[in-house]
Amino acid sequence: MKLLEGKTVIVTGASRGIGKGIALEMAEAGANVAFTYRSSAEKAMALEQELTGKGVMARAYQSDAADFEQAQALVNRVLEDFGGVDILINNAGITKDNLLMRMREEDFDDVIRVNLKSVFNMTKAVIRPMMKQRKGSIINISSVVGVRGNVGQSNYAASKAGIIGFSKSVAQELGSRNIRCNVIAPGFIATEMTAALDEKVLEEWKKQIPLRRTGTPGDVAKACVFLASDWSDYITGQVLLVDGGMVM
Ligand code: NAP
Repeated sequence: MKLLEGKTVIVTGASRGIGKGIALEMAEAGANVAFTYRSSAEKAMALEQELTGKGVMARAYQSDAADFEQAQALVNRVLEDFGGVDILINNAGITKDNLLMRMREEDFDDVIRVNLKSVFNMTKAVIRPMMKQRKGSIINISSVVGVRGNVGQSNYAASKAGIIGFSKSVAQELGSRNIRCNVIAPGFIATEMTAALDEKVLEEWKKQIPLRRTGTPGDVAKACVFLASDWSDYITGQVLLVDGGMVM
């Protein structure tokens, strides 16, 4: 029997990058996958087909994770379509990098809304069904930047550090209901998000990685499968760094 056989997972922002890697690994582990995207409809449809080809139920939903009402509506639709939700992975995220001197108010607000408020929206929407079934695993994707900060990313660092405080609080509030909440903090993972970075910045980052390579979406996805599964039944409120040893 596969590790997540018969479970239903919601992954936000899975049309590309880390979210796509997570959706694929979840399906490999036997989970049915409901996933969201914001605008990449074609990529989302292609992924839906790829996941279905692995013999699980899969569906793509266009939904803005930063919008409270849309998050509620999404979870209601997933409950209708899939009959339940066992795992939530809050992955959707954006960057709007700039030095604080030059950062506009809207760049701060947008990043907080998409990266942090979305985690509140989606978690609020799933906890009722999870409480009813007295079981659930919530995994929030933060970043090493949320742990140690980064030049030019004060908005992003604040959103990702906020995710850590939020998750530890949820773990404490809902532990008695057997709902676990953990954080994964990826280091440098090669995706479209990091492709936008300056070549020099990239080289500097690589030098700081003991395993001497950038990570892949699959590296993050495997940690997600562990935290989603019963293999991590006694683990909650933790921050797991998936960063090749960059921060220790
Ligand atoms: P990415 O390649 O830019 O992909 C972002 C995904 O999020 C896309 O599927 C995008 O959908 C979706 N998305 C964006 N805003 C959304 C919204 N408001 N509602 C729903 N979906 C939304 O990014 P990534 O590198 O895979 O990063 C994924 C997560 O990992 C983020 O939270 C990021 O902060 C975190 N992370 C990444 C790294 C890294 O090195 N890459 C390191 C640490 C943490 P569309 O395609 O439709 O736009």
